[in-house]
Amino acid sequence: MSDQRIDERIEADLAVIGFGKGGKTLAAALGRQGRRVVMIEQSALMYGGTCINIGCVPTKSLVFQSERLTPAEVHVEPYRHAVASTAALTAGMRAGNFAMLDNLDSVTVLTGHARFVDPHTLSVDTVDGATVTVAARWIVIGTGSRPVLPDIPGLATTPQVQTSTDMLHLPELPARLTVLGGGYVGLEFAAMYAHFGSRVTVLERGPQILGREDPDVSACLLDILCDNGVEIVTGAEVTAVAEAGGAASVSYQVDGATHTIEADAVLVALGREPVTDGLALADGGIETTSRGAVAVDEQLRTSQPHVFAVGDVNGGPQFTYISLDDYRVVLSQITGDGSRTTATRRAVPYVLFTTPPLARVGITEREAVTTGRDVLVATMRVADMATVPRARIVEETAGLMKVVVDAATDQILGAALLSYDSHEVINTVALAMRHGITATELRDAIYTHPSMTECFNQLLGALATPSS
Ligand SMILES: Cc1cc2nc3c(=O)[nH]c(=O)nc-3n(C[C@H](O)[C@H](O)[C@H](O)COP(=O)(O)OP(=O)(O)OC[C@H]3O[C@@H](n4cnc5c(N)ncnc54)[C@H](O)[C@@H]3O)c2cc1C
Repeated sequence: MSDQRIDERIEADLAVIGFGKGGKTLAAALGRQGRRVVMIEQSALMYGGTCINIGCVPTKSLVFQSERLTPAEVHVEPYRHAVASTAALTAGMRAGNFAMLDNLDSVTVLTGHARFVDPHTLSVDTVDGATVTVAARWIVIGTGSRPVLPDIPGLATTPQVQTSTDMLHLPELPARLTVLGGGYVGLEFAAMYAHFGSRVTVLERGPQILGREDPDVSACLLDILCDNGVEIVTGAEVTAVAEAGGAASVSYQVDGATHTIEADAVLVALGREPVTDGLALADGGIETTSRGAVAVDEQLRTSQPHVFAVGDVNGGPQFTYISLDDYRVVLSQITGDGSRTTATRRAVPYVLFTTPPLARVGITEREAVTTGRDVLVATMRVADMATVPRARIVEETAGLMKVVVDAATDQILGAALLSYDSHEVINTVALAMRHGITATELRDAIYTHPSMTECFNQLLGALATPSS
């Protein structure tokens, strides 16, 4: 239904703020039921939300294109092509997402910024200059998150400093890229740009990259990144960024000694924070947490029971599939029996799309030991797994696989798969964990051949008591 309206008031069953995964899926579901729905998105470049426009899809498109290239060679033209084809891909998906809602007669898409007037009313300043008042029985806040820019001198003013969003539109390959942060977003970009041929340095404050992962898993990924030409400095505290002669100069300290590195682009990948400013949450009577997220209960209800918050803005895990599951929870509250809540969520996997990818689910060995659990652990290098020829067929034998199992119950507690296709294989482990399939059952199952999933035959046959 058409977007452009002059100052008016709309009465709706549901108003959704933000075109992200959870919000748009809920809007479509209620729209298809014939309910009156208003979707409010502040930018026409963000129909479909972060995932499609600046997150999962464009980054994985660039990763895919970079993986075909030889690292340590400079690929200027392939980079330009990758940026252009990724932009075309996201533009197509954005248009498709807009149409998905706009084609529904009972759904109105407003392009503008929403804020609360009172607990049931929003005011929307549209991009056409109109002000639309939306009064709704239910309101869903799905405003997402944005990169954190810490208060480091020069970070906000140096022109070479980029967020992950800016990097997607960087028209020319930076010869030298410095990445601040050795977490998931930072390492994904570091690996990708190294494949395109940038000289990449990662500055990580902690003692290891991916601080929450087991040291052997982190070390194996470090080796892979270093083999691809990425330089990683751990224990590095960034103290200042400045422009010097058309490049950025990044100062950092390691063990009290100051170092400086020059870069043509500096990526800030130091985490993402919920977007709540500009929403006038106080006028809606909606509370936030100490970390700035919209406070919700297990039903994703805010301090106003008819207002829900989905996706990154509620402070949960920052993944598209969590936002999607938030939609299922809210749908269950609004039109179902209310039984689906976040409390029933188990074994949520996640992936770092390096080459090969690192896929994780459940607890690490370190967490198991710290909490005093009696566990068995199997760890194998992919190159040593004789019965997994798939890795050799596709010439990707780098990596390591690790599984942590409860010694008493044979239940799988966690896994780290740093290997070819692990972003697919991890879903099998997560499914097993959710449905109580034991390690022995997974070990003795029948799998296709040659595939990476058959790794469980060998890996789970190597379970043993950890040495320390
Ligand atoms: C570089 C990067 C890579 C990622 N890779 C992955 C991945 O591989 N897999 C994965 O699962 N997740 C990934 N994520 C995370 C994933 O993209 C997010 O968790 C997910 O998109 C969050 O969805 P959401 O529902 O919270 O809302 P979002 O998709 O963030 O949408 C929020 C929308 O609200 C709009 N908005 C904000 N304020 C207002 C307002 N006041 N009025 C109107 N509109 C407003 C915004 O413009 C935005 O479009 C990645 C994220 C980034 C940044």
